[in-house]
Amino acid sequence: SSPVSYVGRFAPSPTGPLHAGSLVAALASWLDARAHGGRWLIRIEDIDPPRCQPGADQEILRQLAACGLHADAPVSWQSARHKLYEKALAQLQERQLAYPCGCTRKDIEAAWQALDLVHERHVERPYPGTCRHGLQGKPARAWRFALEQRIQDLQKNHAQALSDRASTATQYIAINGSRLEPAAPVLHWQDRRLGEQQQNLAASVGDFVLRRADGLWAYQLAVVVDDAEQGITHVVRGEDLADNTPRQILLQHALGLAQPHYLHTPLVRMANGEKLSKQHGAPAVDLSQPLAALCAAAAQLGLPQAPAGTGGGSESPASALTLALDFWVRCWRQTYNIAP
Ligand code: GLU
Repeated sequence: SSPVSYVGRFAPSPTGPLHAGSLVAALASWLDARAHGGRWLIRIEDIDPPRCQPGADQEILRQLAACGLHADAPVSWQSARHKLYEKALAQLQERQLAYPCGCTRKDIEAAWQALDLVHERHVERPYPGTCRHGLQGKPARAWRFALEQRIQDLQKNHAQALSDRASTATQYIAINGSRLEPAAPVLHWQDRRLGEQQQNLAASVGDFVLRRADGLWAYQLAVVVDDAEQGITHVVRGEDLADNTPRQILLQHALGLAQPHYLHTPLVRMANGEKLSKQHGAPAVDLSQPLAALCAAAAQLGLPQAPAGTGGGSESPASALTLALDFWVRCWRQTYNIAP
């Protein structure tokens, strides 16, 4: 038999039970894995204990099971994977791609003030780079990825290679499946639904945190390490995470890891246009009504779901999944630009 060339995952943070928005990401990642004949994993992202809700992980697993969404391998917990994150950070430290930062929140705000970055027109405020060239006597608090240095090095090497070969300039620097501009900190990447995306990494994020001042691992590092270690080939997740992708792509590349394909799903919004979220009190997916929850999630993905009892409708979560999968497979090219 041919090896499975698709491994997908759903990676919820157990900060509360699943709600309508997170179920969309779960369903889409499951459908896409099934549509490709691939495997689907569940990873509980419990690296931030202060934000985790006791028992939420088990509740999420019960909700997924009620909806008929079962993982193809034992569920993994990030809290059991610290050694892997440690190793990745050490690898970056050895290569001077991570540096200690002694800045408090106050220090960073003061630096922004000095740089006139507190004005309203600056919506995004990257780390000002204060500790990039040393702690200047401050105790180390966090560890940051030397993103701006890394980009400059890649650009320098590219320019050098070009002049060595005396060839004509290529337009972009290849970063796995993505492209860095040779003269600006702008990364271009491809999203299967949103198409070509770009982000100016220096202007929007700067040298981001890998390990926090409280000793906890940052999402960016953990997600990159886990996706690679679990052999994830396709990431399907909510659109609110899309702007994290360039950071993850650069980190993957720095660690010598492959880049998965990305598909960001539409967000479920409330009547006022705000994203549905736990913080805004989104209600949990009702364990006793999994069919209704699945149909709502399918509708959010643009998959038609006839209501139960109308003939074409679903009578159970299993039949709703079959119907959704059938539509996902038939329409994948047009709707989600999915290469078969
Ligand atoms: N744990 C993240 C969240 O629940 C998702 C991570 C991911 O899919 O990359 O927001």
